[in-house]
Amino acid sequence: MIPFNKPPVTGAEEQYIKQALISNKLSGDGPFGKKCQDWFEANLPARKTFLTPSCTAALELAAVLIGTQPGDEIIMPSYTFVSTANAFVLRGAKIVFVDIRPDTMNIDENRIEAAITPKTRAIVPVHYAGVACEMDSIMAIAERHNLYVIEDAAQGMVSTYKGRALGTIGHLGAFSFHETKNYTSGGEGGLLIINDEQFTERAEIIREKGTNRNQFFRGMVDKYQWVDIGSSYLPSELQAAYLWAQLEHSTEINETRLNSWQYYWQQLQPLVLEGRVTLATIPVDCKHNAHMFYLKTSGLSERTALLEHLKSRDILGAFHYVPLHSAKAGRSFGRFHDEDRFTTNESERLVRLPMFFNIAQCELKYIVDAVLSFYG
Ligand SMILES: *Cc1c(COP(=O)(O)O)cnc(C)c1O
Repeated sequence: MIPFNKPPVTGAEEQYIKQALISNKLSGDGPFGKKCQDWFEANLPARKTFLTPSCTAALELAAVLIGTQPGDEIIMPSYTFVSTANAFVLRGAKIVFVDIRPDTMNIDENRIEAAITPKTRAIVPVHYAGVACEMDSIMAIAERHNLYVIEDAAQGMVSTYKGRALGTIGHLGAFSFHETKNYTSGGEGGLLIINDEQFTERAEIIREKGTNRNQFFRGMVDKYQWVDIGSSYLPSELQAAYLWAQLEHSTEINETRLNSWQYYWQQLQPLVLEGRVTLATIPVDCKHNAHMFYLKTSGLSERTALLEHLKSRDILGAFHYVPLHSAKAGRSFGRFHDEDRFTTNESERLVRLPMFFNIAQCELKYIVDAVLSFYG
């Protein structure tokens, strides 16, 4: 059986976790946590980064930081994971879903402005498959209407837009280190990126349960106390140790994924030329991270048949998001702005093929052969 995903393991994880175990420091922001945050601040280049227990937590922290109030409206695509919406719904906001572009499955930047009302507070672009949204347009719209931009870059670590790392372009950015993502911190994990300095001090406080404990550790205050609302948004040192083993090998992980992606891409070109399937578009000024390889069938029934065909050959493919606006919670917490031209139709065509660090060449070939044989 070829699984859809295998969590990445580089080999150094065990040693670093053991090191953390004997260090007598297992809670958050220990030596490995600091190493990871320093790595991100050096490589991304963000003003400040905070490891979090998940991307979900990073998005929740972002929703608090921008001061989301009941009745606020937040613009995002419907074709995304529930956490993108939940983070703001938890603060009482309404979600306004905007249609996607069929070429990248990302929010259609040309449809955002018409969805803005006096209640709009933020735009949340989601970089699907690690391929960037049209950020110049989105930032310009946000500036014109005085809105915040929070990038859901859960899938976008080391991807770039016009040479800029995803997550570092909006006011805030959120990443995931869940085991299904390119880099993991032992199954669950995330990162909040602060690009707008006004948020740094408060992020530190909210993340530490609403206390100024970090200022206390730095000797800036002589006792720490409750100063703001807050929660526990620190991952443990064991998670950071796992993540550090991945960051040290980040180039190797990225390159092997890109090679696998490229192989799929080249081998499936005959089907593209015959008009049987559509593949993702990578805009010329974007570098992606091979987070995902997907193809699009002609529609729902062909997709179901293809997934069955793969399964009969012991290959686990997968479809992806059921658009949020069509789900029960999505209908009560949000509304779709304007017409759903692509979100539902395109999501029903999409099939993701197995993609993980160190997927074997013979596995890739076997999968490609299975897809080609389906189309006869
Ligand atoms: C994976 C993912 C999340 C959630 O990440 P967690 O770390 O599991 O909380 C949010 N948004 C998108 C687009 C994702 O792909």
